[in-house]
Amino acid sequence: MTATSVIRKFKAMFSNKCPRCHRGKFWENGNPYTNLIFNRGRMNENCSKCGLKYEMESGFWYGGMIMSYVINVLLLIFGVLISELVFEEIGIWEEAGLISAFMVLLFPVTFHLSRITWINFFVKYDPGKWQ
Ligand SMILES: [Zn+2]
Repeated sequence: MTATSVIRKFKAMFSNKCPRCHRGKFWENGNPYTNLIFNRGRMNENCSKCGLKYEMESGFWYGGMIMSYVINVLLLIFGVLISELVFEEIGIWEEAGLISAFMVLLFPVTFHLSRITWINFFVKYDPGKWQ
C-alpha cells in the first residue's frame, strides 16, 4: 500500500465515500449529527455507483465497535494531553468530566468514522468501470 493510496483512502473515509469506487455515498447523510438525529443513523445498504453491499455478512458491524473503542481511546489520550496543557490546576474529576463530555459530543462522529474505517480494512479501492 503506497502513501498515495493511504491518502486516497483517508480522503474517501472523511468525505463519506464508498470504499471500493470512492464515488457513491456510504452514509445516507454525510453529516454525522443530522444523520443520527433525522435519519436515526441509517446508512445505505449498497453503493449507488458500484453496487457494493456494505454489510458484507451478518454481524459485520460488530467490528465497527472495536474501531469505535480504538477511536475513543485515542480521543481520551488526546483529551488528557490537551487538558493537562491548557488547565494546569485541574482536578482529576473535572478532567474526567470534561473529557467525558467531549467524547459524548463527538459520539456521532466516532460512530460514522468507526464503521467506515472498519469496512476500509476489507475493501480495496478498485476504480473499475462502475457507472
Ligand atoms: Zn462504490
